Order: sequence, then structure tokens, then C-alpha cells
Amino acid sequence: MTKIKMTVPLVEMDGDEMTRIIWQMIKDDLICPFVDLKTEYYDLGLEERERTRDAVTTQAGEAIVRLGVGVKCATITPNRQRVEEYNLTEMWKSPNGTIRAILDGTVFRAPILIDCVKPAVRAWQKPITIARHAYGDVYRATELRVPEKGKAELVFTGEDGTNFRETIYDFECAGVLQGAYNKDSSIRSFAHACFNYALQTGQPLWFATKDTISKQYDQTFKLLFEEIYEADYKEAFESAGLYYFYTLIDDAVARVIRSDGGFIWACKNYDGDVMSDMVSTAFGSLAMMTSVLVSPEGKYEFEAAHGTVTQHYYRYLKGENTSTNPIATIFAWSGGLKKRGELDNLPELVAFAENLEAASLETMNAGIMTRDLVGLAEGITPVAVNTKEFIAEIAKRLAAKM
Ligand code: NAP
Ligand code: MG
Repeated sequence: MTKIKMTVPLVEMDGDEMTRIIWQMIKDDLICPFVDLKTEYYDLGLEERERTRDAVTTQAGEAIVRLGVGVKCATITPNRQRVEEYNLTEMWKSPNGTIRAILDGTVFRAPILIDCVKPAVRAWQKPITIARHAYGDVYRATELRVPEKGKAELVFTGEDGTNFRETIYDFECAGVLQGAYNKDSSIRSFAHACFNYALQTGQPLWFATKDTISKQYDQTFKLLFEEIYEADYKEAFESAGLYYFYTLIDDAVARVIRSDGGFIWACKNYDGDVMSDMVSTAFGSLAMMTSVLVSPEGKYEFEAAHGTVTQHYYRYLKGENTSTNPIATIFAWSGGLKKRGELDNLPELVAFAENLEAASLETMNAGIMTRDLVGLAEGITPVAVNTKEFIAEIAKRLAAKM
């Protein structure tokens, strides 16, 4: 069989721990046998980030801007414990945060549904897509440990000399401080991305913040969404039979649980981070959630929504063949290859990506699954396999399709 040719490389971003192991398995067993894979490779593993003083992350982000499509493996975001474990000279920032800041995009996360796994929330019948604003807020905040008694102030100095100064708190003891920001331009492109994606996928759009408490910060998001909807999308939504709905984040949480799904839920950065984990877990498993970052210029970054699955990695290091679910990482690859195929006019590459997804779903619908799904399967007798066996089963079905 001749392998499928690519013309423009995909930006490949390798990562850490268990997902790094799975990354290689997917390439070896599911992609390279069929595709003459062309990538521009960036190692975002923590050791390489330390060695390059995190320059590699920025280079990878810039490569996505240049080439248009990237696929990213999960990476460790260092905390205090990781700094010790990996002997780091600095607590490097979240690579995802850095890349999102370069692309200024919106992250859409949707669960991968299979027939035999019913969502934990009985009312849900259709997928719920979380649209996560991928810029600013706590992910780009400046933080400070307040060491002692003292006054904290919020200061803004305008270019023309305007000055704004307000007391945040008169500390009578030690404490903490955080300065977060966002930009109207970024909020606007977030809103456009959500309204467009809703129209493209034929789903209504919900948006929720805490504007009653955050009277400037969250309120700005609410007002910009309203303004953009009224000006640019209302007509198109109405003629498509869709709607835009704003509510408080706590009200949204209650409504989402009672709903039957089938809508896009736009969230601010942190809400989207947490809610997508909740939604994916309730739909089955964190490992069944796809994630794509779309920039306002139409650049794409595909990844799994879950992390590096550290506990499995430690067991892997002890020689165990773990049953870690590779589906979201496989769908990151298929998503990236499909997008590359669409942009470069390579129908064979698009077809390959679709076959890879179909082979993955068929494997699970046949009852062959990793341990995270076994306890959730209904109406069939599932067979628990380890990651290597699972990928081999997908490869078998994929080869038959090719
Ligand atoms: P995690 O790696 O997503 O794992 C949390 C738990 O979810 C796992 O312990 C496992 O449960 C289950 N799980 C997640 N993915 C799975 C999969 N593919 N197959 C089977 N089970 C899966 O999150 P974490 O433990 O909070 O974070 C670990 C590291 O990942 C951290 O260093 C964090 O910084 C990083 N992280 C990276 C990203 C990213 O790059 N996008 C996102 C989140 C976290 P059981 O142990 O019960 O089996
Ligand atoms: Mg998260």
C-alpha cells in the first residue's frame, strides 16, 4: 500500500508522562503505517521546556500561526511539587496558557459519545459543547504573596497620564493578591467564535458569567456578547431557528443538569476549564473529550482535554501495562490531520482521519475498551484491555478500512 502524502507539515507538540507514551504508540501503530507523516516537531516535555527556558513553547505557538494546524500532547503544568520532582529552575507557566495567549482563540470541547455508555445525567441525550475563552483571567494573572501588614492598591496609568488608583485591601496581616485582566478585543473574538461555531454546527448558544458580583469584569463580557449578538448574529440565529441565551453561571449550572443537551455553553476561561471536566466526566470519561482551539484568524490546535494521567505513568514506570484511554489523543490527531487535509485539498487524508475515528468508535461499540469505560458500559459485555491491546484492535479495524 502506498502511504498517503501530505504537503504542509502539521505542528506536532509532544508532551509528558503517560500521554507521551500513548502519543508514540498512536504514531507508530495508527498513523505512520498509513500516512507519510509530515510534521514540524516541538518537544514540550518538561525537560525540554526547562532546557530551553520555555522558549520551545513559544516557538511551537508561533509555528501554529505560520502553518495553521497543530496537534498537542498533554503536558505538565509545573507546581511546587513538580519543581522539586524535575529539578526546575523556574515554575514554568502552563504551555496551554502560553499557546492560547499567542493564538488568542476559543477552545471548543465536546464529548465523544458511544452507544453503550450512557451519560451519568439521565436527561442528557445530545452532546454539550463547552466553548472556553482561552485568553487571560487567572491564567495570565499576576500574583503576589502578601508578606505582612500593608496596603494593596489597584493602579492604572493611561498613556495620556490618566490615573486610576483604588484600595483593594488594607492588609492587617499576611495574605494573597491577584491581578487579572482581559481585553475587549479578545472578548469580542471569543463572542464571534462562539456565534459562528453555533451557526456552523446548528446549535443554540448559552453564555454565563457572574456579572451580579463582578460588576465591571464579568459585566463587560455580558455586554459585549449582547452587543455583538444584536448587531451581527440575531437575524442569522432566528432564521436558523436557533437562540442565544444569557444567564448567571450558577443558574446555568442548574439548567444544564436539567437539559437534554445539544447546545454550546460558552464559559469564561476558568469556568470552561472546570465545567468541561465536569461535563466530560458526566458523559463518561475525561478521556472521551475532544478539544480544539480556534483562533480568530482560523488557526487550529487540537488536543485531548485531559492531563498527563500521572498515576498511570508511575505504574507504567514500574512495568505495568496500564489501561489508559487513548481516545481523546487519537481524536486530536484525527482532528489535526482532517483539518490539514481540508486546507491542503487532500481528500485522502480527510478520509483517513474519518476512518481512524470510525475504527476507534467501532472498537468501543464492540465492547473492547479501556478500564475507565468498562464500569460505565450498558447493554453489552465489555472486555477490558490495556492501552497497547486497545490500539492494536483499532489498528486492525483501520487496516480493514484502508
Ligand atoms: P489527568 O491527567 O487528566 O488525570 C486525572 C484522572 O482522570 C486520572 O488519574 C485518571 O483517573 C483519569 N483520567 C484522565 N485521563 C485519562 C485517560 N486518558 N484514561 C484513563 N483515565 C484517565 O489530570 P491531573 O491528574 O489533574 O493532572 C496530571 C498532570 O496533567 C498535571 O501535571 C497537570 O498539570 C497536567 N494537565 C495537563 C493538561 C493539558 O496539557 N491539557 C490538562 C490537565 C492537566 P484514575 O487515576 O482514577 O484512573
Ligand atoms: Mg481542567
